[in-house]
Amino acid sequence: MYTDASQYVEEVLNYLGRKSSEQPEFIQAATEALTSLIPYIAQHPEFKKYALLERYVEPDRMIMFRVPWIDDKGMVRVNRGYRVQFNNSIGPYKGGLRFHPSVNFSIIKFLGFEQVLKNSLTGLPIGGGKGGSNFDPKGKSDTEIMSFCQSFMTELYKYVGDDVDVPAGDIGVGGREIGYLYGQYKRITGSYTGVLTGKGIAYGGSLARREATGYGLIYFANEMLASKKNGFEGKKVVISGSGNVAIYAHEKVASMGATVIAMSDSSGYIYDKNGIKLDIVKQIKEVERGRISDYLKYVPDATYVDSCVRIWEVPCDIALPCATQNELPLASAKELIKNGCMLVAEGANMPTTLDATHALMDAGILFGPAKAANAGGVATSALEMSQNSQRISWTFDEVDHKLHEIMKNIYLHASEYACKYSHEDDLVSGANIAGFSKVAEAMMQLGVV
Ligand code: NDP
Repeated sequence: MYTDASQYVEEVLNYLGRKSSEQPEFIQAATEALTSLIPYIAQHPEFKKYALLERYVEPDRMIMFRVPWIDDKGMVRVNRGYRVQFNNSIGPYKGGLRFHPSVNFSIIKFLGFEQVLKNSLTGLPIGGGKGGSNFDPKGKSDTEIMSFCQSFMTELYKYVGDDVDVPAGDIGVGGREIGYLYGQYKRITGSYTGVLTGKGIAYGGSLARREATGYGLIYFANEMLASKKNGFEGKKVVISGSGNVAIYAHEKVASMGATVIAMSDSSGYIYDKNGIKLDIVKQIKEVERGRISDYLKYVPDATYVDSCVRIWEVPCDIALPCATQNELPLASAKELIKNGCMLVAEGANMPTTLDATHALMDAGILFGPAKAANAGGVATSALEMSQNSQRISWTFDEVDHKLHEIMKNIYLHASEYACKYSHEDDLVSGANIAGFSKVAEAMMQLGVV
């Protein structure tokens, strides 16, 4: 079945394997996506003549730059900055900035590649890009963060613009960093445009953007449950991470009657059988910028385990990986299956390894892939762009309502394509094909560029 299409995909993946062998995360993302596109590609033999896949896997451009900054002791430090502008066939490049020591071209390319499909799935006119730096914000003072952000933007501003490329936050880049980045952009260019999203409300941000990825994840997972005539009421939930996505996923899922019993950071996880108190996690992470283990200072009878990956050993009905890539490997998937988990929805980007994804789906666990399940953040960023262009601000409820509708539509769209090309629960294929079909159509119409 699909011999020519399978062969074409294999050729492109072999090419990537040869040319980008030092980029394992990018190859992982491309392999997952392209393999699931085969039934769709089989219907479009013209793609091969137009080298559509070969063009699709090459970013439009990749930018790398030096970011010098001065620490509190007066020492000059140097980091690397990156921006990958992957594909702008359906709209300006859009995607976050990540500040984390692990950042390199492989990480940024995988995130940019995923972003193209995700942004298309939202139904909004946004292309895909991603950027960041190997700068580690942990343990840095406010002045050091500002010095770094100003230096980073002093180079990045040449490549971005409200109709060109609109970055946002990601790991290590929250409201504070976006503020410093935007301040420097405005200072250099003298213009007040919506060049970044995730901005503070006082200077053009959108209400509900902070909450959007986490809330959107729960809206999406709720559609998945509803398709099986089920819901969140009374469910036990495990959420990895305790950053932006994890915190607001917790907030929304708890409001729907579920109990979150475990959360983590990169050092370990906490377990509270009575339900983790979100106001304490917010205090630790958003105010004190502390460690998740500090939860025990407030709730001494909770448990702390010195390993983040072991969070998946906690028996639960629903697992929401909201921390980082490849944080849920095969061994953890087996634990979830053994303990009777019924749904996994990805808040983080590519948190589940390929073999773990297959194991979960083969075991009949409902699986919500990141590019659909966590698209609420970028969708709300696009709503922020609309408000900035029109010089208006919508209320929290207006934005939240639009977000909810967008997530329902993403679910409908992904499940429609899943039914058409695979089977009804294969949202991985459904999301990939639904996102890809629009980009491919645009690329064909735009000529050989
Ligand atoms: P944050 O920086 O706010 O939080 C990341 C959290 O994950 C921190 O608690 C961090 O802990 C934790 N973490 C990192 N590595 C691990 C690990 N190996 N095991 C357990 N916890 C870990 O980032 P976000 O919440 O914004 O992003 C989280 C994920 O969601 C990323 O994959 C991101 O790409 C994705 N995403 C984010 C969107 C957004 O709008 N922010 C939109 C769509 C996707 P520590 O403090 O110890 O590092």
